[in-house]
Amino acid sequence: MTSNDIYGVLGVKRRINAAGTLTRLGGALMAPEVLAAMAEAARSSVDIAELQSAASGQIAEITGAEAGMITTGAAAALTLAAAASMTRWDVAKMAALPHAEEFKHEIILPRTHRTGYAHALTAAGARLVDIGHNDRGTGAGVRGLEAWEIEAAITPRTAAFAFAANPQTIADLPLVASICRPRDIPVIVDGAAQLPPKSNLRRFIELGADLVAFSGGKAIGGPQASGILAGRRDLVGAALVQQLDMDVAPPTWSPPGLIDRAAMNGVPHHGIGRGFKAGKEEIVGLLVALRRFVDADDAASNAALESRLRIIAGFLGDGVTLVPAAITGRVPVLEIACKDALSVSRTLLADEPPVHVSERKAAQNILIVDPQALAPDDDPTLAAALRRALSA
Ligand SMILES: *Cc1c(COP(=O)(O)O)cnc(C)c1O
Repeated sequence: MTSNDIYGVLGVKRRINAAGTLTRLGGALMAPEVLAAMAEAARSSVDIAELQSAASGQIAEITGAEAGMITTGAAAALTLAAAASMTRWDVAKMAALPHAEEFKHEIILPRTHRTGYAHALTAAGARLVDIGHNDRGTGAGVRGLEAWEIEAAITPRTAAFAFAANPQTIADLPLVASICRPRDIPVIVDGAAQLPPKSNLRRFIELGADLVAFSGGKAIGGPQASGILAGRRDLVGAALVQQLDMDVAPPTWSPPGLIDRAAMNGVPHHGIGRGFKAGKEEIVGLLVALRRFVDADDAASNAALESRLRIIAGFLGDGVTLVPAAITGRVPVLEIACKDALSVSRTLLADEPPVHVSERKAAQNILIVDPQALAPDDDPTLAAALRRALSA
């Protein structure tokens, strides 16, 4: 089946995406340079462990972490991070997962950090230990995470501390690290969607994270089913060996240095991460995308996005605000005040082609045009559809 209308051939609608790099809409759009690298990677055989080891070097240079690996997404990176924190280099523990009751398997998670992605941690066999209150989130009070409550939650079964990074939580990361580091409790940071700004590639590590998960298919613009786990060398190595294909003959198995064979009392079988294998195409594609993301001129690309958004806003009436990147801290967006945001969104979704805008402020009756995955060719169609839906 070859076609230049592959979705049409499959009977699947192409959609206008002004909602951002949402996984359910396919994440980022890939640059031709990334696609070309993936196509080239697809044409040769390589040792995947050696390729992951090379990826580790690149990720270390870009993030400031000791090591890194390519995963099949940030959620997979969190599962592998939880696994590595529980097993370290113990082959018998690797073999036991997800049944971890006999060894350290508790992961402390502040209530204010609990998201739907916490399931990725428990998938490895960890049990979550909730701590703290959500006084700020609920508007009930002023207090955030406190040292004593972290200390009180630590037990001989504590395997890790999970931290969901965002502008509201980040100030607490040094406190968490200062308590966990001396006790050798890895701090796992979910930084999946905290890019841009690209400074966050280094920031969480600098603030004391032991492992950080990033999505490759969101702002980085890599393959949709890719992600990064960056952090401490021993933990990344223990995660990698639980992701690799381990149908190997011990006498001929020669892992890269990232996998500390001497620290293991045997050769592990396929681990908990075997179902999360990253292919050579994803690994190479994400590395090329990551380099482009780091080298990009953010000021220039935000200025280009702003001028596109200004043109779209020109088609619409009052109640449309261009919020610049300096205010969002990410990319510029249009905020559209509506009488009933979800009913406007429903109209847009029923259009042909369907139009997706972000509903993340719908509770305030604001729809957001997020241009991160908006193809420039779609701008005029989007503007016309918004105009129709808003005047309906
Ligand atoms: C998107 C996201 C994830 C999952 O990332 P994938 O790369 O899709 O696996 C995890 N945590 C948060 C906060 C996210 O936004």
